[in-house]
Order: sequence, then C-alpha cells, then structure tokens
Amino acid sequence: MSALTWPDLPAAQQPVWPDAAELEAVLEELRAQPPLVFAGECDTLTEQLGQAALGSAFVLTGGDCAETFAANTADSIRARLKTVLQMSIVLTYAASLPVVKMGRVAGQYFKPRSKPSETRDGLELPSYLGDAVNSLEFDADARRPDPRRMLKAYHASGAAINLIRAFTQGGYADLRQVHAWNQDFVRESTAGQLYDRLATDIDRALSFMHACGADPEEFKRVDFYAAHEALGLDYERALTRIDSRTGLPYDVSGHFLWVGERTRQVGGAHVQFASTIRNPIGLKVGPAASPDEILEIVEILNPDRVPGRLSLITRMGAGRVAESLPPIVQKVEASGNPVVWVCDPMHGNTFEASSGHKTRSFDDVIGEVEGFFEVHRQLGTIPGGIHIELTGDDVTECVGGTMGIAEDGLGVRYETACDPRLNREQSLELAFLVADMLLKR
Ligand code: PEP
Ligand code: MN
Repeated sequence: MSALTWPDLPAAQQPVWPDAAELEAVLEELRAQPPLVFAGECDTLTEQLGQAALGSAFVLTGGDCAETFAANTADSIRARLKTVLQMSIVLTYAASLPVVKMGRVAGQYFKPRSKPSETRDGLELPSYLGDAVNSLEFDADARRPDPRRMLKAYHASGAAINLIRAFTQGGYADLRQVHAWNQDFVRESTAGQLYDRLATDIDRALSFMHACGADPEEFKRVDFYAAHEALGLDYERALTRIDSRTGLPYDVSGHFLWVGERTRQVGGAHVQFASTIRNPIGLKVGPAASPDEILEIVEILNPDRVPGRLSLITRMGAGRVAESLPPIVQKVEASGNPVVWVCDPMHGNTFEASSGHKTRSFDDVIGEVEGFFEVHRQLGTIPGGIHIELTGDDVTECVGGTMGIAEDGLGVRYETACDPRLNREQSLELAFLVADMLLKR
C-alpha cells in the first residue's frame, strides 16, 4: 500500500454523497491544489506543543464550533483573532509561559451530529453536516450533500489563513496594540472593571520593559496556527501530501487536526488516518471513555512517544470532571507517553435552555476549567492548555458572565451554525479568570 492510500475501515459520521463521479472529480481537483500549510510549520508546532507537554508553555485554542462561508469575512476573522490574541496576553502574563495560539479556523467546516436526520413539521431532511457538505437552511435542496462545497471550503480556508498570516506577521498583532485593546475592555465594560488589577500589572511590566529600551521582534509578530477536526475523510485525504523534504505524509489542510469524541473508535478510519499523518494531533476525550481504551489510542497515535505529537482534549462536564478525569490521566501518565492535557470546557456542558436554544452556562465553563486544574494539581501532572468555542462578536449564545445573558435573552443574537460560543466579552472574562487560577497555582 502506498503512503497515500488508506485501508477500507469503518468511518463514522461521513456524508452520503449522492453522485460518485461528481465526488471523484472534486477530489481530483482538491488533490491538485496547493497546500494551505507547510510541513515545517507543523513540525514547529509539534515542538511548541512539546514544551506544553513538559510544562514550559500553555496552549490556547479558540474559535467557532462550525465555521460558515457566510461568516468567513475580514471583520469576523479579525474579531476572532483579536479575541484569541487578547486572551493570550493575559494568560502569558499569568502563566509566565509562552502561549501557543491556535484557532478553530480555516478548515472547521465539517460537523459530527447526534442524529443523521432532522424532522420539522413532519418533514425529515438530512442533518446539517457543516458548510463543506450541505447548507444549514432547512430545505431539501440545501441539505443534500454537495461535494463541490468541499472546494469552496478549501478556498475559504485559503482566504482565511492568508488574512491571518497578514494580520499576525504584518504588525497588527503587536503586543502593545493587543494590550491596548485589553485596556479598552477593562475601561469600557462592567466585566472588564473586575480585572483592572491584573491589566494594570501587565501594563507596568510592559512599561518597565519599554523603559529598559527593550523592543524585541517577538512583540511585533506572533505565530498563530490553524486547527480543525479531521472529520471529513474525503477532504483530509485529498489534502494529504508527501513532504518533499522528509518524504513523510502531512495533512496540509491545517496545522493541527483532531479526532472527535464520536469518531475515535479503535479500528476506525479516523484514528487510522490520524496515525498516518505527521501533523500534531488531538483526541477529544469525553466522560464515557475508559482509561484502557484511551491508552490504546494514545499508543496508536503516538507510538514514538514524541512530546507535542498528541494532545488529549478532555471535555467531561463541570459536574463530572473531578470523577471522570483522574483515572484517565493516571493511566496515560503511568504509561510514560508524554501527551499535552488540554481542557475543552464547552462540550460536556451543553444543555437546552427554556427558550429551546442549545446553550452553555459561563459558570459551568469556568467550573470545568477549575476542576481540570484541581485534578492535575492533585495528581502532580501538567495542565497544558484550554480549548474554547468562541467568537469575536457580541452574540448571545451562552448564558451567564458578568454581562449576565439570561435564558430568555438568548434569542437576541443567536447566530451559531452549531454549538453555542462564548462572545467576545465572555471570552475575555474567561481569560482573566483562568489567569487568576494560573497565578494561584
Ligand atoms: C467540537 O469540537 O465541535 C466537537 C464536536 O467536539 P466533541 O468531539 O468533543 O464532541
Ligand atoms: Mn462544538
């Protein structure tokens, strides 16, 4: 078998494309497209994540649950990037560690669903599977899987990553600029005022460096990596290439790819696919996971025990983290496999509000991060980062936060195509609260 063919293993959550010839034509076109990321960048990210595995860096991943073509605008991308950068400064200061920054961006276009179809007023249609597959609109034509949407996803991802590179390398992301945005947040919002002390401390540190004459290059540019779930295997395989420098396969659709909670079966196609690519990868781990099964996947995905190769992104729920996380951490740590422990405090905390909206409570999100830190403190292991669903806009999708979005206010600006995201203010508030946890360690 060549490096770029895959065994025919069961693959969960794949679209049923209506026309095989049309699919093949799309895949051929995708295989001929230029890479969105370079193998060398993926290797650098693995090294940086390796630092997080050892406790010398902290990981921050933030972005949409599901990107959409409609929201792939300069304003929307900039707002998300700005939010993650603002969060990262606060965390860098509090952790006194470099923060590895990643977006759920430039490729987060495929979604796993709990049900393959959706029924409204007696009409049953395929579920929305992400903009790379079909459209959110509840209409038979819109919901039919269309492989040409994968080409659109590729081009949208290329446009997004191009803009992100320009923003992060071209001076827009200058540390002092990002800090000034944080000062605006502290000055102008009720939530921000609570964090005045920390923002002032950061300001003093920056003024001190400035007074000393320090103006490092590192202030002017940041590395920002693109991450998404490697769910749509047709797309990911078509974008997997042999790197000419090393002769090894990389999935050039994004820097970091993860395997979701619903597709991480041992013996399934997603785990097999992830095991063959050299990108740094993630594995979502929910409360039903058994320590033995997770260790088995860890050994498949990181047989060479490379620090940074594998992140275990745990999403237990605020109420279950204290009980469900320790046995998994203990089992994996006892094996000696050096994974990065990352907390996703979103996916174990989803519930339906009285208004009918799918939501999450800000307090539960904070509660799970607290529980995650506490488990790692008790076990003497390393909490390596956080993974957040957020947007840079003032949406009303998660309840709580100092702004106090209530269940009956969710309808005001509920815009997500899939899961509820923290808005800009809730995201910054989370960063300050996590900073407090890091400072108290
Ligand atoms: C997601 O990250 O949007 C997701 C579906 O998560 P999980 O696989 O953890 O359920
Ligand atoms: Mn989600």
